Amino acid sequence: MQHHGGNGAAPQVLNQLVNAVVAAVLLVAAVFAALVFTWSVQRVRAVHEIEDQLQVYRLALSAVEQVSAERGPMNAALGRPGQFAPTLDAARRKTDISLEALRRAASACSSCQLGPYEFAAIESELQQARTQVQAMLTQTLAQRDPGQMALTIERMIGVVDLEFRLIDQLGQNLQRLAPEIAAPVTRARLAARLRENAGRLGSRLTVALATQRELSAPERQGVAELLGRIRQLCELLQASIPAAQGQGEEARAFGRVADIYFGQGMTYFDATLERMAQRRGPTPAEFAEAYVPTMAPIVALRDLETRLAQSHLSGLHDRAWWVLVGVVVATLSLTMLLAVGLVMLNRRLLSPLLDTVHRLIGLTQEDTTFTPLAPAQRRGGYARELRTIFAALRHLEDLLQRSIHVRRERDALIARLHVLAGTDHLTGLPNRRTFEQRLQQAGAESGGQMLALIMFDIDHFKQINDQHGHEVGDQLLRQLADRLRSTLHRPDQTARIGGEEFVVFRAVARPAEAMALAEQLRSALGRPFSIPDHGTMAVTASFGVALTRQNAKVHTHELLRRADQALYRAKRAGRNRCEMADFDVSAYTSRLEGETARLQ
Ligand code: GH3
Ligand code: MG
Ligand code: MG
Repeated sequence: MQHHGGNGAAPQVLNQLVNAVVAAVLLVAAVFAALVFTWSVQRVRAVHEIEDQLQVYRLALSAVEQVSAERGPMNAALGRPGQFAPTLDAARRKTDISLEALRRAASACSSCQLGPYEFAAIESELQQARTQVQAMLTQTLAQRDPGQMALTIERMIGVVDLEFRLIDQLGQNLQRLAPEIAAPVTRARLAARLRENAGRLGSRLTVALATQRELSAPERQGVAELLGRIRQLCELLQASIPAAQGQGEEARAFGRVADIYFGQGMTYFDATLERMAQRRGPTPAEFAEAYVPTMAPIVALRDLETRLAQSHLSGLHDRAWWVLVGVVVATLSLTMLLAVGLVMLNRRLLSPLLDTVHRLIGLTQEDTTFTPLAPAQRRGGYARELRTIFAALRHLEDLLQRSIHVRRERDALIARLHVLAGTDHLTGLPNRRTFEQRLQQAGAESGGQMLALIMFDIDHFKQINDQHGHEVGDQLLRQLADRLRSTLHRPDQTARIGGEEFVVFRAVARPAEAMALAEQLRSALGRPFSIPDHGTMAVTASFGVALTRQNAKVHTHELLRRADQALYRAKRAGRNRCEMADFDVSAYTSRLEGETARLQ
């Protein structure tokens, strides 16, 4: 942006205003972008945490299933002679692996808020139950105490209850953090509980089957309770699954549970009860072999629900990422747009506008030092509306420029005329009019000093004209004026007031100074002049000197008259001499006396 001199106060204010507005807009945009960015980063992080928790939840469900599953081979081993139970060992290894995986995932998941003590209770209970089982397996079948066996089985069931407490805690956390996945999370838990209770139902028969007897009254009671709980869980699941009778994936999975577990499994269970009544019950191993596989669809339903929760979460995760990416892209493009807009605004509108304002201000102060608008700039892409304004401004600029030019020319002419009006055209010396003005001025500025007026007239000038021609007379007059100028300290204190009559004035302290100056001029003019083609020429002049009174107002005409009289006397006395006009001697002497007294 061009600046012209110190006349930019208004445009500078405009500049500052634009800068302030730009800064404010950028600040608001930055704060808004930062807020949205922080919010979406937090959202992404929250979804990550939920995913971690869901993973722990899934592992906990799988661990609880393994602990339950361990009871199958355990029951079988307890109902069989001998202490070697390779299926039980394999089931225990699987439990240990799944518990270890759960522990690792939980310790990696800070938002799960699960400490090591949560697992310590589970593991210690599990180990104690297993020790009891091992102790019994070393006994013969007959030695194994049914009461002890029931307690051991209860202990294993207790481990599962401890685990379910953990699962409930995790599930509630998840439901709170992500209500979107509350339904599948709950259904997975219901399915896991169903699977657990179905397993327990089978376990209830183990002791009786192992000892080939009917169920005792408390065992019957336990079976009835478990059946009630299983029915309840089944109803809860059915009610919670959308369109449980329909064709959805969940509905199909639930349908398989109904067919295989509630159909085949339960039928086999009921048949077993009848056979037990007739003391023809299967061995625990045979029972497990037939009953346990019918629980598989329950586990499949559970896994389907965790998968659904997971995929729902992936959707949330993707959406959160897209929002974040969108925010970043939107912020960047907005910033770019804003920057481009501001640059365009500045280049296309503000800059030329301010430039024009500077020019106009400059023009009103008659500053035309700047270069005119370049044609390219004139054509440049201002908006159509602005172009009209700029055209008008340029027109105004041209008009102002022209008027300034005209006025300057006029002023110069007037000044020139003024000089010419006060100048003698032949010699270039001030004329009589200028002389009278300057004499008045000198009188006012003399500070009480006397003013001396020396008037002289060239002797027998007519003869020079007569002998050499008027032209030579003119040349002589011009040279005489030059000499006068070079002799005097202040050439402005002289003038040509007649054909060959001149005056000189000066402030003097005493009359003798005036006479001395007149004598000095007389001898200067007395030196010969060299006229081209006419050789040297000498002239003389007669001088009349008049003085003003001290502290008196200068009367030009009076002074001229007295000097003229003195000049006339000089002519009459034989020319080429200086004469002093009548002088008020008494006034002068009294002043001298005053000065003498002061000096003493
Ligand atoms: P004096 O003053 O000694 O009495 O004799 P003078 O011959 O100078 O007489 P006076 O002053 O009366 O005459 C002036 C003469 O100067 C008359 C005129 O021819 C001449 N003169 C006046 N103005 C000009 C001028 O502008 N150019 C020329 N060349 N001569 C001028
Ligand atoms: Mg004369
Ligand atoms: Mg004369």
